[in-house]
Amino acid sequence: SDTPKVNKWTVHIEVRLKPRTSTRFETIRSLVRTYLTSFERIGLPSTLDGWQDTPELASSIEKIVASESSCPHTTLPLDEMALQIHVYQPSDTDSFEEFSNSSGVREDDNDTMAASVCELPNRSWEGLWDSLIYADDIKMKLLDYIHATLVFSDANVDFNLVSWNRVVLLHGPPGTGKTSLCRALAQKLSIRLSHRYTHARLLEINSHSLFSKWFSESGKLVQRLFNSITELVEEEDAFLVVLIDEVESLTAARAGAMAGTEPSDGLRVVNALLTQLDKLKHRKNVLIMSTSNLVKAIDSAFVDRADIVQYVDLPSREAIYEIIRTCLCEIVEKGIVASFNVPTLKQAQLYEATTKTVLSPPSGVLPANDHHSKSKNVALRLLALANQCRTQGLSGRALRRLPVLVLARYIGFGNLYTAPTRSTTPTSRDSANIGP
Ligand code: ADP
Repeated sequence: SDTPKVNKWTVHIEVRLKPRTSTRFETIRSLVRTYLTSFERIGLPSTLDGWQDTPELASSIEKIVASESSCPHTTLPLDEMALQIHVYQPSDTDSFEEFSNSSGVREDDNDTMAASVCELPNRSWEGLWDSLIYADDIKMKLLDYIHATLVFSDANVDFNLVSWNRVVLLHGPPGTGKTSLCRALAQKLSIRLSHRYTHARLLEINSHSLFSKWFSESGKLVQRLFNSITELVEEEDAFLVVLIDEVESLTAARAGAMAGTEPSDGLRVVNALLTQLDKLKHRKNVLIMSTSNLVKAIDSAFVDRADIVQYVDLPSREAIYEIIRTCLCEIVEKGIVASFNVPTLKQAQLYEATTKTVLSPPSGVLPANDHHSKSKNVALRLLALANQCRTQGLSGRALRRLPVLVLARYIGFGNLYTAPTRSTTPTSRDSANIGP
C-alpha cells in the first residue's frame, strides 16, 4: 500500500524511544504509521504531538519529529508523502575507547590519545543537527551526497568506471560548527540507515596527537589506528563514520619532511594515511569526514581525495538572527527571561520590509503598547544586532555564548538576580527575572 507514486516526497519521521524501552522497533513503527494517518498535513520540519494519547506509544516514545526534506514546501498533505519511519534508541554510554600512542605508559598523557569511539545514535549528539544553522543548505547537501553514494553502491556500479572516495572535507574559520556538523551528520546517518545497519559508530581521530612530533611513532600509530578501523569496518552490518579533525596537522608532517627536519618520517606518516584511506574507499559501510581551519595548509594529496570540499563560512545575517533567536527561545523556556514571543526570521523580514525608515536600536526601551508593536520592536532590534555581529565577523561559537556574557554583565551592573524557580512554563513576571 506504500508504493510511492512518482510525485511523492520522501519524508523522514524520526521516532526517539525512551531509555530501556523493550517494545520491538517493528511494533512501534507500525503503531506510528497508524498514528500518522490521523494527520491531514505535516509541517516540515516539525515536532509531532498527539501520540501521547495512545498508551502504547506514550509508554515507549520520547519524541517524534518530521525532518526537513528536499521538498520546497513547509507543510505537505499526508498523501503526497512517502513516509520513512526511523525508530531509534540513543545510546547513553559515553564510555569512549581510546587508542594510545604506544603500548607502554607515556609520561605526558595528553599527547598519547589518538582516537576515541562512540556508539551511535548517541544521546550526547541529540539536538545538535537542528541547532546548526547555515545560509546555504550545507546540511541537505551532505545528506544528498550520502544518498547518492548509497544509490551507486546498491547498484554495484563498477568502481573502475565511476568512483568516489567516501571522503568529505569541511573547511573554514574556527567556530563555524565544522566538527559539530560532522558529529551531527554521523548521528543523522545512524538514524537514517538503521534499517541497513544494526550498529553505527563514530571514531574521532585527534590529528594533533596522531601527527605529533614523534613522527617515527606516528607512522606506527597510523598503522595501528587503521588496523582498528579495518576491524570495525569488517563488521559489515555496522556503519562507521571516521572524523579526522584539524586535518592540516597532516600537512605539518609533510612540511617538516620538506624542511628536512624530519626527513623521511613525516612523509611516511602522510603516505601511510593516504594509503589507508585509499583502501577504505571500497568499503560500503564507511564515511570519512574531515575538518580544517586552514584550507591552504592542507596537503593537496588529501584535498584531492575529498569528494566534497565544502567551505563553511561565518554565519550570514540571517543565520545569526536564527542562532540568537534559538538562544533567546531557550532562555525564555528555562524561565531566565520573561516570557515573550521571539519573532521568526520570516516575521522579522516582513516587519523590516514594511518599515520605511531604518531603525537603529535606541538604548532605551521603545514604547510597546500592543503585542504587535512589541514584537516588531524585538524583531527590528534583533535584526540590527545581527547586522552588528555580522560586521564584527562573530562565529557561531561566539554567538552561542553571548547570552552568558550578557547575563554576566547584567549581574555585574548590580542587579539582583535570583535563579528561576523550576516551573515548566514561566507565565508570569514572578518566575522571570529579566525583561526582554
Ligand atoms: P569548528 O569545528 O568549526 O571550530 P565547532 O563545531 O567546534 O566549530 O563549533 C562549536 C559550537 O559553536 C557548536 O557546537 C555550536 O554550538 C556553535 N556553532 C558554530 N557554528 C554554528 C552555526 N552555524 N549554527 C549554530 N551554531 C553554531
